[in-house]
Amino acid sequence: MADSDSDRQSLAWKLRSLVGEERVLADEPMSRHTTFEIGGPAALYVIPDDPEEIRACIEACRAADMPFFVLGAGSNLLVSDDGFDGVVIGLAHDLVRVTLDGLEMCCQAGVSLREASEMACELGLSGLEFACGIPGSVGGACYMNAGAYGGCIADVLKSVRVIRADGSFDTLGVDELDLGYRRSRIADERMVVVSATFGLHAGDPDEIRAKMDDFTARRTEKQPLELPSAGSTFKRPEGHFAGKLISDAGLKGFQIGGAAVSTKHAGFVVNMGGATAADVHGLIAHVQDEVEGRFGVRLEPEVRLLG
Ligand SMILES: Cc1cc2nc3c(=O)[nH]c(=O)nc-3n(C[C@H](O)[C@H](O)[C@H](O)COP(=O)(O)OP(=O)(O)OC[C@H]3O[C@@H](n4cnc5c(N)ncnc54)[C@H](O)[C@@H]3O)c2cc1C
Repeated sequence: MADSDSDRQSLAWKLRSLVGEERVLADEPMSRHTTFEIGGPAALYVIPDDPEEIRACIEACRAADMPFFVLGAGSNLLVSDDGFDGVVIGLAHDLVRVTLDGLEMCCQAGVSLREASEMACELGLSGLEFACGIPGSVGGACYMNAGAYGGCIADVLKSVRVIRADGSFDTLGVDELDLGYRRSRIADERMVVVSATFGLHAGDPDEIRAKMDDFTARRTEKQPLELPSAGSTFKRPEGHFAGKLISDAGLKGFQIGGAAVSTKHAGFVVNMGGATAADVHGLIAHVQDEVEGRFGVRLEPEVRLLG
């Protein structure tokens, strides 16, 4: 790993030469880029504009022996208070182009899932309704196989364009991605999604809108959307619901520092104001121990950790 200031400085220059001066930020607070609003600084934060720039940035990091992390909308992420001593490659800024080919919608990785869903609705294209309230990017959603209300990315994805771990571009069909509950081959093999193509079908815009309105109403009623969080903190354990186990363990409202188990939905850890990553880690560990002690089920975090 690059360990001197001069190694880091030369990588910063290299990245600036690749993407432009103003697109490489030093010591960028990650609290600005996560829905939890938590996280210390990334040593370097780079904003590529197209797939080739992403590839070149990754190559530069590898050549400099510097760790890198690909960031979407930061809606499933807890970054440590010490930050990340590496390069964060932020895709949700400029990789936001959408193209249509008949019933196929191709979105670059940084497109917001909500916007893709909204756009499809306006065009009378059905399939992405389930995604209307998921605050992630298309790339992050493919990586996580995001889903809600009975739908998930695997149901509607046709293919993804990726950068493989060896730096080559490839296009993989949905059947090659091994998409499961909040998991994918993309995650297992550290691929980077640069764009995704969804196969939609023609629908009545009013019916699509009604479905989305229903999902939104259900979400607003049940979830603590008024407070910063990273959505469901834990994966759904086989045969149970994480929120119910946590609630039954009497942990609703339990707080460590600024982090609390939501009183509205026990499956969410929320930032009540000024929460640190250490608060959230402490709360996650406490919830895991209490739930396991009571019900013999060890909850597994769904939230990804960085730093
Ligand atoms: C209020 C709220 C509600 C939520 N509701 C839901 C829900 O209903 N269903 C659900 O599934 N999730 C939900 N989430 C969680 C989150 O929105 C999803 O997991 C989403 O898919 C994460 O996407 P992201 O772009 O924010 O990813 P990030 O948080 O930016 O990253 C998550 C992981 O994906 C990787 N990644 C991101 N982009 C790429 C890429 N282009 N290529 C390769 N890897 C990449 C990152 O490296 C990281 O490991 C919710 C979150 C919040 C805050």
